Amino acid sequence: MDDRSAAIAAHDADVARDLARLNYPPNNWMPATYAPDGRPMLDVLVVGAGMCGQTAAFALLREGVRHLRVIDSAPAGLEGPWGTFARMPTLRSPKHINGPDLGIPSLTFRAWFSARHGEATWDALYKIDRLDWLRYLLWVRQIVGVPVENGVRLRSLTLVPGGVQAELEHADRAETVVARRVVLALGRDGSGEARRLPFPSFHSDSADARARVFHSSDPIDFSALRGKHVAMLGAGSSAFDNAGTALEAGASSVTMYARRPHLPQVNKSKWSVFSGFMKGYAGLSDAQRWRFYTYILAQQAPPPHESVLRCQKHAGFSIRFSTPWRDLTADHTGVAITTDHGVTRYDAAILATGFAVDLPARAELAALRPHIAVWRDRVSTDEATRYAEAARFPYLGPGFELQENVPGSAPDIDRIHVFNWGSTMSHGALAGDIPGLATGALRLAEGVVRRLFAEDAERHYEALAAFEDPELLPTDYFVPREARSTRA
Ligand SMILES: Cc1cc2nc3c(=O)[nH]c(=O)nc-3n(C[C@H](O)[C@H](O)[C@H](O)COP(=O)(O)OP(=O)(O)OC[C@H]3O[C@@H](n4cnc5c(N)ncnc54)[C@H](O)[C@@H]3O)c2cc1C
Repeated sequence: MDDRSAAIAAHDADVARDLARLNYPPNNWMPATYAPDGRPMLDVLVVGAGMCGQTAAFALLREGVRHLRVIDSAPAGLEGPWGTFARMPTLRSPKHINGPDLGIPSLTFRAWFSARHGEATWDALYKIDRLDWLRYLLWVRQIVGVPVENGVRLRSLTLVPGGVQAELEHADRAETVVARRVVLALGRDGSGEARRLPFPSFHSDSADARARVFHSSDPIDFSALRGKHVAMLGAGSSAFDNAGTALEAGASSVTMYARRPHLPQVNKSKWSVFSGFMKGYAGLSDAQRWRFYTYILAQQAPPPHESVLRCQKHAGFSIRFSTPWRDLTADHTGVAITTDHGVTRYDAAILATGFAVDLPARAELAALRPHIAVWRDRVSTDEATRYAEAARFPYLGPGFELQENVPGSAPDIDRIHVFNWGSTMSHGALAGDIPGLATGALRLAEGVVRRLFAEDAERHYEALAAFEDPELLPTDYFVPREARSTRA
């Protein structure tokens, strides 16, 4: 065994020791529960095994919630953006971020990285390689034993007495399961969808559009853009990442279009990464929370300077500020973009327009759509109109659970927890960005556990009454149960 392999093996042993010292995973403490048709119910179904889903499952396992399943529609290793459509060489976050480790030192990225590359390399590291982050996430998942079932898609959720019925789709079969609680960890786009603006003349389903117009989260064959002129809509982080990738693949030019007169300069979300905000925000009044997050969202975040430098060193890169697109068409020779300054032709276009939030519009929740409370229901019509995007975020309870929009219309809707970007208006960015992840996952797990316990309070009381642990059996003072005074 060489030194590196020995260091990795020693680190894995450290983790095993830490987990054993924490008595992880504790025994299951929930009584078995059955659906009305007699089938056993899952305690929790976690949908999505990206960064948030696997960390939520880890937090639940730490609480002894063992009767759970974790599914993801993507193949193993391709969950989330890191190995798919994230196109930056390094993470945007600083290297010391924690989250998937849930506070266990040997599970941190730093510990994982140092075991593989040494402390000196860690000290010299500037930012985390994107694929290292993916490898690290997969390692955490495996070493803490999160049982992910890949290639399983959630199709729909409906409420049934005492639980939530989930229709699942495997490659070769359909499956119906009933869970007492469901955690939707569906990703950045998981409370809505990729935002594709409705240009009047654009037909997204035409063959020309499919061949030449992409969303930045689509799979894109960048080698096909070699020698081509590319138009990029949007000037956020993903726009720069896609522009950099296209230019490095040999694109002749990338012209970026932004509505704003200049790039946003300050990432206000960075300010919010401190314990007080992450722990205290959810406890603020609706008016206070609305004020904080509509401000943060409206400010928008600048792209990391590394992403901008990556692009600006290419002669073919340019940005047109204050130039929104009015229309877009695609034909077999290219795309035509209409702005207030006329029509310009390119070979291809990439829409780096981010993800829209509109949770009730998710297909998985179609049956529950009329009942889901969103922030629009909690603020004035004027405010909801002014901040239309913020108004579409789901309005969640203290354990990330959905709320019914009309009291009494679907009380069991709170069996569904939203642990993705959609929870941001209600909780802050605790299920979207890495720094808030541990706070969020622990809060979610506590919320789930509290409710599971309360729901079973009668059964737990019976178990308490039946509990026999003859502490004094080895002593002279042991009294058998049937001989004990009932006054005790
Ligand atoms: C390009 C990009 C770069 C980012 N960089 C950073 C960064 O540097 N720092 C930072 O803090 N944050 C970053 N983020 C934000 C955030 O950390 C990531 O989006 C992260 O992946 C969020 O984890 P997640 O689990 O919510 O979503 P994901 O990792 O996307 O996981 C969601 C999973 O749900 C699955 N899924 C969805 N629907 C279903 C269904 N119906 N049935 C079954 N499975 C389903 C998907 O297959 C997916 O694997 C970045 C985001 C993006 C998009």
